[in-house]
Amino acid sequence: MRIVIVGHVDHGKSTLIGRLLYDTNSISKEKIAQVLEVSEKQGKGLEFAYILDALEEEQDQNITIDTTQIFFKTGKRDYVIIDAPGHKEFLKNMVSGASYAEAAILIVDAAEGVKEQTKRHAYILSLLGVRQILVAINKMDSVGHSQEKFGQVKKKLSMFLDKLELMPSEVIPISASRGDNVAKHSQNTPWYNGPTILEALDSLIKTRELEDRPFRLPVQDVHKFDGKRVIVGRVESGHVKQGDAVCFSPSGGISRVKSIEVYGKKPSRAEAGESIGITLEDQIFVDRGEVASHESEKPTVTQSIKTNVFWMGKEPLSVGKRYLLKLTTQEVSCTVSTVLRRINSSTLETVEENSQKLFDTEVGELILLTRKPIAVDLFDIVPTLGRFVIVDAHRVAGGGIITEIVQEEIIIKDLRAAECPFTYEHAKPLIEHIKRGQTIEILVTNLPAVETIGRLAFEHNLEFNFRREEDYIKLTVKAPAEG
Ligand code: GDP
Repeated sequence: MRIVIVGHVDHGKSTLIGRLLYDTNSISKEKIAQVLEVSEKQGKGLEFAYILDALEEEQDQNITIDTTQIFFKTGKRDYVIIDAPGHKEFLKNMVSGASYAEAAILIVDAAEGVKEQTKRHAYILSLLGVRQILVAINKMDSVGHSQEKFGQVKKKLSMFLDKLELMPSEVIPISASRGDNVAKHSQNTPWYNGPTILEALDSLIKTRELEDRPFRLPVQDVHKFDGKRVIVGRVESGHVKQGDAVCFSPSGGISRVKSIEVYGKKPSRAEAGESIGITLEDQIFVDRGEVASHESEKPTVTQSIKTNVFWMGKEPLSVGKRYLLKLTTQEVSCTVSTVLRRINSSTLETVEENSQKLFDTEVGELILLTRKPIAVDLFDIVPTLGRFVIVDAHRVAGGGIITEIVQEEIIIKDLRAAECPFTYEHAKPLIEHIKRGQTIEILVTNLPAVETIGRLAFEHNLEFNFRREEDYIKLTVKAPAEG
């Protein structure tokens, strides 16, 4: 099971990881001796947080080890802690889905209580659909193992989590450094009858049974050898069998699976999580970025999606600017047509509606338009096809999930604050939308843009309306009425 440990800085994430590794015997005696030596030099007892540092140092010297994964196991199953807290890339990996968590431990310092990052991390968990959450109220030793203090922090946190519709399966009073209620029930909290962290982890269910969801194979590559073409990718959900009719989206090509190939073997079936190659009965054109599915359960092909995006770009996200959207192996240029809501990710308050920008650490409800059709699913149905990242100037600047497919409704393109005037480049994706029956409203403040859009409407034989609003111009462009 893949888990993530989140919480405010210094609330004890690294210490809890060290403790979990130590108590499950997941770390060598030599390493412990080494950590103890460092701790003692600083006049401390074994400092559990250093276990993580020691592992990271080791990993730095050996770049082949995945630095973002830490393993431990209980009698019941294996766990992977994805990413290390404090990593600069932590938030980014979380929102980009580079490391997907099935469950999370949210850690809160009993003395400090709920802090900004506690809230922000909880919000990101809810945004990314991580629904299984354990809360660890840490450093109980520092508040004299007070049941009252525990109750206060628990109440305050629950109020916040309620708003996010996050229901923690357990709220556990712990001391990560002393080991209270982590692997062993503590004598210090006789008032607590619930499970330890390890017991609570073991009772979580493996939620995302990706195997039971519709079959999706995003194409990574197409290799040609011995006159045959092998389509390579990872089965993200569902399963596929030899002989199945498969469909490729967005292109729409259809064929049957002639063979499945995995390292020289030819299994008759493959399922979620496996990297495979397939050959087809017909020579249809398939390229990287296509998504294979069964005909009866295809992903949606669209150019406009409603999304929740967490922004972490240095530059604010701005309406009308071109970005690169990456969704599985699909990469397509996109623009944001509307920021419906800007939300402060720690207070959850709406900062502004119908905004032009989205700033660092904010969450936005946005309508995204892609220049080319893409194959997507709603996040709740197929998580991997419902999650994407936004790249700005070669850096991941945002990540989010698809909450709705926007179809046949008015797309409002607000260019009032756009730094550059409306150009033909802006227009191309819009023309596609219009041809598919959508109406576009374009809000501008400068007359040259009106001329550009008017000319465009003329060239493409579109209906074009002009209306002056208070201090801007509203242009409506749509396909001409039939007849
Ligand atoms: P992180 O930033 O969330 O990873 O926090 P750390 O694990 O680095 O812990 C921050 C500080 O809190 C360190 O000095 C730890 O020794 C201390 N700490 C962690 N857990 C406990 C605990 O259970 N009790 C007490 N008293 N201190 C703790």
